[in-house]
Amino acid sequence: MPLTSDPACLLIDGTWTAAEDGRQRAVVNPFDASTLALVAEASAADVGRAVRAARAAFDEGSWAHAPAARRAGVLTATADALQEQREELAVLETLDTGKTLSESRADVDDATAVLRYYAALSAADPSRTVDTGRPDAVSRVVHEPVGVCALITPWNYPLLQICWKIAPALAAGNTVVAKPSEVTPLTTIRLFRLLQRKLEQAGAPSGTANLVLGGGAIGAALAEHPEVDLVSFTGGLATGRSVMRAAADTVKKVALELGGKNPNIIFADADLDAAVDFALTAAFLHSGQVCSAGSRLLLHRSLHAEFTAELARRAELIRLGSGLEKGVETGPLVSAEHREKVERLLAGALAEGAVLRAGGGRPSEPELQAGFFLRPTVLDGCHAGMTVVREEVFGPVLTVELFDQEDEVVALANDTPYGLAGAVWTQDAERGERVATRLRLGTVWINDYHPYVPQAEWGGFKQSGTGRELGPSGLREYQETKHIWRTVSPAAQHWFAG
Ligand code: NDP
Repeated sequence: MPLTSDPACLLIDGTWTAAEDGRQRAVVNPFDASTLALVAEASAADVGRAVRAARAAFDEGSWAHAPAARRAGVLTATADALQEQREELAVLETLDTGKTLSESRADVDDATAVLRYYAALSAADPSRTVDTGRPDAVSRVVHEPVGVCALITPWNYPLLQICWKIAPALAAGNTVVAKPSEVTPLTTIRLFRLLQRKLEQAGAPSGTANLVLGGGAIGAALAEHPEVDLVSFTGGLATGRSVMRAAADTVKKVALELGGKNPNIIFADADLDAAVDFALTAAFLHSGQVCSAGSRLLLHRSLHAEFTAELARRAELIRLGSGLEKGVETGPLVSAEHREKVERLLAGALAEGAVLRAGGGRPSEPELQAGFFLRPTVLDGCHAGMTVVREEVFGPVLTVELFDQEDEVVALANDTPYGLAGAVWTQDAERGERVATRLRLGTVWINDYHPYVPQAEWGGFKQSGTGRELGPSGLREYQETKHIWRTVSPAAQHWFAG
């Protein structure tokens, strides 16, 4: 029995509605492959209606030109509502994604924090006065909303990723059409139910926030729609490229947060207890289904035996199970298809000569057979030419490469098309700073892994993306910049004599 059957879960022009052609899709619990819910599956016609509603709401102007404090109020009220439903949302996220309840609770808190951050930032966002060099002229630079924004999110952090996008987009005065991953749409639906109520209470036009559900074709329809002004996309590299191509026809603004192949560098003078501990968190949190996962361990050769033995020992102890169960440390992969993809990469790595030190297959416990589990895996003896080192695996697979010199490890870490995040472990503060400066990555942690705050920008160098989320730059992504010049007492200039 599905948890819910919710055919009317597309939000179009302020109304909750079923798909025009009545189609539905099953949402699956990755812990046991049971059906969690049946949700509407939008068609291209539904996308068209949602975009037209967002266009009309934007062009009507009352949201775009509302005082920033009014828009901020909607975000703050939505943040309050998220906290009121924190536990319910966390359970739903765990059921849908398989992550542990403590991770889901942290996601609800982080989603709340980003809504509050952009509420505060937009209310304080100043225009800039420029010195024209003329006493009779006043010049201002102001920031205005871009227009209709398509927001496309992946399955690993559903609630958090959509909040990273709706918070700055709505704070800036845009209208939106969101499309979550078909695999994990449940918390996004719940969020939009809360948000819509707050928008109505604030008197926003009916099409300010729209939600469509469905697979990649629905995302593609949004990316190519001529009335969409901006696409903000988080997902894989191949999809990101196709979004960029689709957006090119009407020169939409594009913000892309794509994948990573993130180095975690351990120098010989690192605090080894902490470095081993964080190497596990970096690689195996949410079963490695994290864009910034530290899936590539670059280890100083002198540490090889001791470090990898401890890593493998602790990886074998990681407790798999239902994210709802106390004491479980990591859950399943998100789908059967995704686990098969990870298993293919794993088999390829072993065929290429990687040495298995931990994990390497599905768990044997009877209670885990129905779900999409894979044991945390440590592969030793890897090198930069291997597919498993070059491609994003997005699963619980950690590769180990060795290095001798600082220059060598910087070159190794940068030898990838990606540039999202990574870490360096050393007790030499100067070396930490030096290496951080040389890494071509959007985020570098020194003696840590994974922390972030909404005030600091997030995004990728190279093919990990374009644009930034979070921080002041995250708001600017959703704004056009306009220069307004005013001559106070205009007089003829007679540039042309006649
Ligand atoms: P995908 O690229 O497969 O999908 C991302 C979103 O795009 C989904 O909503 C998907 O729909 C949709 N989509 C699929 N095809 C198209 C298309 N042709 N045009 C427009 N949209 C489309 O990524 P995953 O969902 O598999 O997520 C994993 C990826 O996300 C990883 O590569 C990961 O690194 C990246 N990621 C990056 C983050 C960052 O901050 N840089 C953060 C989190 C994840 P559907 O799922 O329904 O097919």
